[in-house]
Amino acid sequence: MTFAELGLSPKLLEAIQEAGYSEPTPIQAGAIPAALAGRDVLGIAQTGTGKTASFTLPLIERLSRGRAKARMPRSLIIAPTRELAAQCAENFETYSKGQKLSMALLIGGVAFGPQEEILNKGADVLIATPGRLLDHFGRGKLLMTGVQMLVVDEADRMLDMGFIPDLEKIFSLVPPAPRRQTLFFSATMPKEIQSLVDRFLRDPERVEV
Ligand code: AMP
Repeated sequence: MTFAELGLSPKLLEAIQEAGYSEPTPIQAGAIPAALAGRDVLGIAQTGTGKTASFTLPLIERLSRGRAKARMPRSLIIAPTRELAAQCAENFETYSKGQKLSMALLIGGVAFGPQEEILNKGADVLIATPGRLLDHFGRGKLLMTGVQMLVVDEADRMLDMGFIPDLEKIFSLVPPAPRRQTLFFSATMPKEIQSLVDRFLRDPERVEV
């Protein structure tokens, strides 16, 4: 299996080659074609499996195929911690090199001002921790009605950190399926997480590695 066979475009294939990856990992081989086809994905995978690329690559592909919508965010990635969100942002920058996509990293522990400036300019992608995202929303600085793809990374860690109510709120602020596609990742599937999947994903492709 090659990355080209997964349906990714030449620009992304170039970025992948530059990153030094020769072939997709199992989670990538399972998740990327389904995500490109517009399906919801439930990825059950630990860190180290290449899961970040398994959602970032199709997210970039779909963004680059689509058309900017009045500078509203079209994709949203939620991660439980600042570190993980920052890692997702680094991955996004690596794979989207040479494409005109703008990204805002919305994490706590830093001032609101610079993040608001980026939001005001317009970002195609938001990468955020739940608390800071909802803080921006509460300040009236964020409209999420244009979000077509929502990624939840490390859902089971969000459960451990008490973020399930925040996550439910975020699901209520983005368009419902089928206008919204959801890619949902968790290393384990406790019942609280299964309940979220049952409520918010639509016939997901389940990829377990
Ligand atoms: P992750 O599971 O997303 O934390 O990724 C773990 C590591 O694997 C990261 O350092 C990635 O850069 C790397 N990686 C992701 N996809 C591939 C691939 N297809 N081949 C080799 N390394 C990869």
